[in-house]
Amino acid sequence: MSTAIDAATMTVHLFNTLTGELDPLLPSDGKAFRMYACGPTIYDYGHIGNFRTFLQIDVLRRFLKLTGTPVFHVMNITDVDDRIIRNAAQAGLPIGQYTAPYEQAFFEDLETLRIERPERIARATEHISRMVELIEKLAAAGAAYQTEDGSWYFRLSAFPAYGKLSKKDLSGMEDGARVDLDEYEKDSARDFALWKAAKPGETSWETPIGRGRPGWHIECSAMAMEYLGESLDLHAGGEDLMFPHHENEIAQSETVTHKPFALHWMHVRFLLVDGRKMSKSEGNFYTLRDLLLKGYKASAIRLALISVPYRHQLNFTFEGLTAAANEIERLRTFSARLKQASLAPGENPALQQAAKKAQADFIAELADDLNTADAKAPIFELVRAANTAIDQGQLRAGDREAILAVLAGFDTVFDVLADRDGEATTRAIQWAQQAGREADIASELLDRQSLTDEAIDALVAERTQAKRQRNFARADQIRKDLAERGILIEDSKEGVRWKRK
Ligand code: AMP
Ligand code: ZN
Repeated sequence: MSTAIDAATMTVHLFNTLTGELDPLLPSDGKAFRMYACGPTIYDYGHIGNFRTFLQIDVLRRFLKLTGTPVFHVMNITDVDDRIIRNAAQAGLPIGQYTAPYEQAFFEDLETLRIERPERIARATEHISRMVELIEKLAAAGAAYQTEDGSWYFRLSAFPAYGKLSKKDLSGMEDGARVDLDEYEKDSARDFALWKAAKPGETSWETPIGRGRPGWHIECSAMAMEYLGESLDLHAGGEDLMFPHHENEIAQSETVTHKPFALHWMHVRFLLVDGRKMSKSEGNFYTLRDLLLKGYKASAIRLALISVPYRHQLNFTFEGLTAAANEIERLRTFSARLKQASLAPGENPALQQAAKKAQADFIAELADDLNTADAKAPIFELVRAANTAIDQGQLRAGDREAILAVLAGFDTVFDVLADRDGEATTRAIQWAQQAGREADIASELLDRQSLTDEAIDALVAERTQAKRQRNFARADQIRKDLAERGILIEDSKEGVRWKRK
């Protein structure tokens, strides 16, 4: 495909939090781009803010591959932390049993949103010994100390470069002040917990540094270096992780290796809802599943969450989702029209030129700090130009190939053209029914789902029959009834087709 050839000459530039500049992304080992992304803490269902971050990382990995760079991407699963321990205790379950359904739900949600699986998924609880080894090395270097209760802390004063990522002025930090929470206030730097001594009733591991469990930060350092080596090409996460989580990861790793832990740091800005921070108490908190059950399509959610470039705040609104759904409809309708149109042989030079330009602009915009918004625009311009050309009988068979190749390149990254929305919605409905959340399913959706494919086929056949018998009133009525239940009938030369809206 010509897209891949053109894209292969491009170097992707991305803003690097560490340097404050747009830096080129190149595999430092000359082979694969080694990237690590902080994954989910599986104590609940993923919300759309989480998925905004995972989707932007998906855009990055897909675009790197499109430009000919192989990717080796590692993501952790935090399956032990303060919240998990607290919630599992409340539910009276061992942590593994408490987290398992949420981990499964997370992977289903990735699939729903067409987020590619990283090459390696690493669960914290399966890498305890690596974390312990790292803590032992920190202790040997004089950067970790044990407190009376048996916990281990990182000594911030052992790492003078602390703060280099977030550029925080930490001059007032108190030597020896400690914190053992996985999350803590944003503006204080403290010696942080590497290992928490076992408390009665809490999950713990017996290890050479004592019985206990790892802190959150050591998890990512240990697993990133286990699979990607001491210096990663890129480390990514949401903007909230920059401090203290990523700063702590750097301190732990670089104290041991004396090498830059990650050459490039990518931070995705937060998603807001209606201009406000998303929170359960504000009533503006949405999981992916909440939106599907309200009747929004998976593809529209994907497009809405990737269309705002990752360095901009994304203000999520339902109007935005509807607009994304309309854009997808336009693309799918165009793609079907283009494939079916009967065209004269040859090429139209103006359209060949338009296709080349759309493709070049698409790639150039993504290569420039993943500007998804501006990358999308030339694709829609091309669709407009091609639609007009088809209307005027000026599109040739050779143009079809060129335009389909541009769409394919677009879809390698955006992945919204194939309609799998019905399946995703059905899965969400089935889940809600099993989880006792029927009340969350939009009634309109239930009504639509209750129409089986066979029932639709029968109604469509009845309509065809009515038309043959010149009973146009009945035929129209059937079309209208189906439309109200989200089924669109399309009459074409090849016959009648229907699809779910
Ligand atoms: P967590 O499961 O809380 O560890 O978060 C998983 C990922 O989602 C992390 O990279 C977070 O930075 C990111 N994240 C959490 N909330 C939001 C939000 N509102 N917008 C964008 N990313 C978020
Ligand atoms: Zn992390």
